[in-house]
Amino acid sequence: MFADKATIYVRSGKGGDGHVSFRRELYVAAGGPDGGDGGDGGDVIVEVDKGINTLNDFRFRRKYSAGDGSEGGKRRMHGKAGEDLILKVPEGTVIKEALSGKVIIDMSGGRESYILLKGGRGGKGNMNYATPTMQIPKYAQPGRPAKELTITLELKLLADVGLIGFPNVGKSTILSQVSNAKPEVADYHFTTLNPILGVVNVPGADGFVMADIPGLIEGASEGVGLGHEFLKHIERTKLFVHVVDAASTEGRDPLNDINIINAELEKYDAGLMKKPQIIALNKCDVFIGNEEDTVISLIKEEFEPKGVPVMAVSAATGRGIKELIYKIRQMLDELHQPDLIYEQEYIPDIEADKGGINVSYDKENDEYVIEGPAIERMLGYTNLNDEKGFSFFQRYLHTSGIVDRLKELGVNEGDTVRMYGHTFEYYE
Ligand code: GDP
Ligand code: MG
Repeated sequence: MFADKATIYVRSGKGGDGHVSFRRELYVAAGGPDGGDGGDGGDVIVEVDKGINTLNDFRFRRKYSAGDGSEGGKRRMHGKAGEDLILKVPEGTVIKEALSGKVIIDMSGGRESYILLKGGRGGKGNMNYATPTMQIPKYAQPGRPAKELTITLELKLLADVGLIGFPNVGKSTILSQVSNAKPEVADYHFTTLNPILGVVNVPGADGFVMADIPGLIEGASEGVGLGHEFLKHIERTKLFVHVVDAASTEGRDPLNDINIINAELEKYDAGLMKKPQIIALNKCDVFIGNEEDTVISLIKEEFEPKGVPVMAVSAATGRGIKELIYKIRQMLDELHQPDLIYEQEYIPDIEADKGGINVSYDKENDEYVIEGPAIERMLGYTNLNDEKGFSFFQRYLHTSGIVDRLKELGVNEGDTVRMYGHTFEYYE
């Protein structure tokens, strides 16, 4: 069985802290600041890997983290960036926010990679803060925090094509011939009632997903309830390949078999008979003499007028199999049924660094209010009681455009400005 669902925790890398250091030179008491910047934390990236068909890799490990950025060093050394975490998933993987179940991204329809979480940016070292008036800056920026998220990965591998037919007609053999699936080929009737899916590659065209759908007859005759998986696949299948033991190796009548299976389909859900079918007359290698022509023309006469293509194949020798694949591809194209691609419903707060500054006027308290993650972080790493810290902060108010914004709102000398628990009087 393939794992078609997994829930994991992912975390991006934390940014490395900026470094505080001063040049040391012989005969010089204290050199200028030379603390380097911290490295950026690694991102969490989802990437489609065409060589993977299952989510098995995610079944045994629950936690995944990108690398943290390293701290900056003395002598202007940049900290090393953290390594990105790359989650390799099969095409058709839908990533959802685990709690809400909302779709973050559908890795299908040609999408190859997606940045799920960005790493925190590295902090600036004190070498960046030297100015003519402040020559010994003793602070550096801390690295920005990592981001975390719990996600559910779901493989949206839904069959485009379903193989139907009596047990032992060769459905599993056909699937294993044309796809990467490894179904159990058995000379006995009851193997598994779970649909087995395989990806069929079509040279020069889009591939499709084919399912061996046992259960229609097996389940019914055994009194086994048809499982959820079975229903999900048979209902979404775009077309059926109706496989028949044309050579009657088990002494059955091919025409009668087709009618029985179709009646069973109809009984289960009338809508299923409206889906297009291709009849694959299998085991044609077993025929002796001109018996083959007789059977094939009989079935063709019966079904081709109804618009059902009839093809003679042999899963054992491979005869007619390629033609069958191309015919399926052609019919799928004619159906013009676009693949289902889920819309994004949830946008993770992927960027630890972004985050604006909002400046507003609070009429009720007659105060100007400065808010936003950027200012909050800024206050978090600045010591306002320290003279240097305070002048650094004042400079920031100018360079960040906050002062301009306050002026636009009509601030006057002596007005109150509030930000995260700090209250100031405004002076030019
Ligand atoms: P399923 O029950 O429909 O999945 O049938 P299987 O694929 O398990 O095949 C049942 C038996 O028929 C196995 O012994 C196969 O080897 C055999 N078989 C399948 N296809 C062919 C074929 O084209 N020619 C011959 N001679 N035997 C086949
Ligand atoms: Mg089988």
